[in-house]
Amino acid sequence: MEIAALVTLVNDWGSRPREVGHREQPEADPEERQVAIDIADRLYAVFADDDAVGRATAVTAMLAETGVRPELTVAADALTASWYVPREPDVLLASAALALRDHLAAKPERLGVCHDRHCADVYVDASPAGHRRFCSLTCQNRSRVASFRKRKRRAAR
Ligand SMILES: [Zn+2]
Repeated sequence: MEIAALVTLVNDWGSRPREVGHREQPEADPEERQVAIDIADRLYAVFADDDAVGRATAVTAMLAETGVRPELTVAADALTASWYVPREPDVLLASAALALRDHLAAKPERLGVCHDRHCADVYVDASPAGHRRFCSLTCQNRSRVASFRKRKRRAAR
C-alpha cells in the first residue's frame, strides 16, 4: 500500500476525521464498513501519537497480530519479494502496517493530524522543510484567517 492510499483510507473511514470534518462514510456493506472503520481508527491513533515509542509499539503490534511475513515467490517465471498474510481479512491491516513501518523508519516525524480546529484529517509531510501542520492548503488558510481575526479582536480591545 502506498502511504498516500493509507492517508485516504484513514480520512475516509476514521471516526475522528469524519466526525470533526462532518463527513459521511463511503458506501459499503455493514460488515466491510465496520472492518474499515476499525482499521482506520487504529491507524489514526498512530498519526495522532506524538511519541516515537507509542508509534513503534502500535505498528509492531499490528504486524504481529496479522502474522505478515516476507516471502520469495515466483510470478511469471521471475523471483519476486512479496509478503504473506495467513488470514485474508488481515491483508488490509497488514499492508497498512507495513506502509507505516517503512514510512516511520525513514521519516519518523513526517506524519500527523491537521492542526485546524475544524478538521482532524491525517497527513504525510512531504514538504522540503518538514514543518507541515495542516492536511491541506484550505485548512492552512482557514486557520491563518482565524488567528488573524483573533489577533485583530484582541488588539481592538
Ligand atoms: Zn485539515
